[in-house]
Amino acid sequence: METLPVPASVRPVLARLVEAGHAAFLVGGSVRDLLLSRPAADYDVATAATPAEVMALFSRSHPTGAAHGTVTVVEDGVAVEVTTFRREAGYSDRRRPDRVDFGASLEEDLLRRDYTINAMAMSLDGRLEDPTGGRRDLAARVIRAVGDPRCRFDEDALRPLRGVRLATELGFDLEVGTWRAIQEAAPLLTHVSRERVRDEFRRVLLAEGVGRGLELLRRSGLLAQFLPELLEGVGVVQNHHHAYDVWEHTLRTVERVSPRLTLRWAALLHDVAKPRTLTEKGGQRHFYRHEVVGEELAARILTRLREERRRVGQVAALVRWHMALRPGLPYRDATLRRLIARVGEERVEDLLELWQADRGAHGGEEAEEAAVAALAARVRRLLSGERVFSPRDLAVDGRDVLALGIGPGPAVGRALQKLLAFVQEDPSRNRREVLLERLRQDFGRRT
Ligand code: ATP
Ligand code: MG
Repeated sequence: METLPVPASVRPVLARLVEAGHAAFLVGGSVRDLLLSRPAADYDVATAATPAEVMALFSRSHPTGAAHGTVTVVEDGVAVEVTTFRREAGYSDRRRPDRVDFGASLEEDLLRRDYTINAMAMSLDGRLEDPTGGRRDLAARVIRAVGDPRCRFDEDALRPLRGVRLATELGFDLEVGTWRAIQEAAPLLTHVSRERVRDEFRRVLLAEGVGRGLELLRRSGLLAQFLPELLEGVGVVQNHHHAYDVWEHTLRTVERVSPRLTLRWAALLHDVAKPRTLTEKGGQRHFYRHEVVGEELAARILTRLREERRRVGQVAALVRWHMALRPGLPYRDATLRRLIARVGEERVEDLLELWQADRGAHGGEEAEEAAVAALAARVRRLLSGERVFSPRDLAVDGRDVLALGIGPGPAVGRALQKLLAFVQEDPSRNRREVLLERLRQDFGRRT
């Protein structure tokens, strides 16, 4: 078998361990990625050295998972996770081993890993240790559990989700026995912390094959464990201009937006409330206010899934406004500027991308897509034109308003909002003298 060089950035770490007389190997995802010629996310090293021995050898090192025997070593600016060979025993809580034993062999260390393609090791001279047939499965593009999949998923109920995540990111198939065991073990996901579920699911969302990944999550029964609301859209057909049910339309929308987390979440949840708001009248289906109900539902879902607070707000706002633009309506510039202000300038680009993806994912006419693109281009032009989207953009401020005897109190804010609407009609009005004059007139009229 040909040998592949261990990447230069981890060589020094392996070399130092080996020189000190400890067996040491590159392991796990980094070996897999090396064999696939993909950039590795991070480097993991397994060694016979104990955590204390590892720390003694590297001045820049700190224990990161002491109980699990992991030490992070920084060499030439590269962080490498160094873990002592171990075997694990007893998983009574379905999440963590009750006991981790050091003093295991490399082979034992590989056999405790989840999937064959993740259970290979490479030595400094490029020799591959592959006790489970990982190389063969890589070539066949298959995700296969190490050992009996049922037992392995019983031990750690996150593994099924990791398997689907890997299949999604790599575009691999799931070996049939592994797939069946995933379906059986899916209900155990409730034993896993929401943070771990979130971390894996985020990676599915960001993957290029996200549509297929979501479909795998649905068919495996995993999605029902942590995002059952999305399944309500399966089979909910829409009116004639939609070729797909809500679920399928959602997958297509997510695939169309760029792989940024906020945007992918918004695409995933933009129609989440459609099934709950469905009404029928005269043979037509309506989903009135689904964006309003959806805003709240999306926020609840994301909070439950431990998504960051800031992101929850951003996604909810995108869901809220995803219906704000309609192609074919004769919008005035001022109306579009007000819309930008309401949505929040910093969110408009995401909203436009979501909107175009949503409209494009109906499976409908091309003429509409052109109208959508034209309107989006117009909004982008206004966005990069004169900044008249917030009271901060005005040529006057609260002190000017107070100096004219308006306020104090909420009257100041109201006066500024009125001025903002005034300059949104015509941005050339945004000059100090013009605005002060306008304030005087307005104020004079009321006293
Ligand atoms: P990536 O680096 O792309 O996230 P990875 O496979 O390296 O993928 P990590 O979470 O970094 O994933 O885990 C490193 C290695 O540890 C894996 O390749 C696998 O061998 C092992 N591993 C991780 N999680 C588990 C688990 N839940 N059960 C068994 N082995 C695991
Ligand atoms: Mg890794």
